[in-house]
Amino acid sequence: MKAVLLDRDGVINALVYHEDAGVIDAPFTQSQFKLLPRVPKAIRLLNDLGLSVAIVSNQPGIAKGHLKPEILKAFERMMLSQIRAEGGHVDRIYYCLHHPEAKVPKLRQRCRCRKPEIGLLGQAAGDLRVSLEECYMIGDGIPDLLAGSRAGCRTIFVGRWKCEICQFTEGQHVRPTFVAKDLWEAAQLINSEMTKTTRTASSPSCLLAQV
Ligand SMILES: [Mg+2]
Ligand SMILES: [Zn+2]
Repeated sequence: MKAVLLDRDGVINALVYHEDAGVIDAPFTQSQFKLLPRVPKAIRLLNDLGLSVAIVSNQPGIAKGHLKPEILKAFERMMLSQIRAEGGHVDRIYYCLHHPEAKVPKLRQRCRCRKPEIGLLGQAAGDLRVSLEECYMIGDGIPDLLAGSRAGCRTIFVGRWKCEICQFTEGQHVRPTFVAKDLWEAAQLINSEMTKTTRTASSPSCLLAQV
């Protein structure tokens, strides 16, 4: 394996409960942007394994009028500096800014890059000069799993694997290759698989789910 493609919200930074709208979504302000525990260390481990690391993220917040492009850039700087502080680096970052019901007209489109479409993944793999079969796709959502499996990547679901999720993924044959509690655990699974010293990796199943 040569590269790791990472979702952003819920994998790298925490999701936010927006009280006014009553929804859990991406952060909209800089004070809401918080890296999840052990993320910089996980990315450093992936770097040390010789894997390229790219972020492939749906970011419809600008299209929906939740934030300005400068804020998305500010999140990026915060994220990269915290990763760099622990000796890690991200090779590339790709966003889909579109949304089919966007308020901003030029972002209102049914594009080929919004996951579960595979456009962003293909772009990342192309720029990194690897094939999609040589990539892990790591995400906390069904669109991440769908995009990853359609693209031929190995997939890692980050979060709690619940039977409510199985009913959607099984119908579409998109069981993740692995399930991990967080990005650090995902990086360790990749480490075990690539170094083959241990066999801690296991396939997910409803019976193993910690609900
Ligand atoms: Mg996510
Ligand atoms: Zn798009």
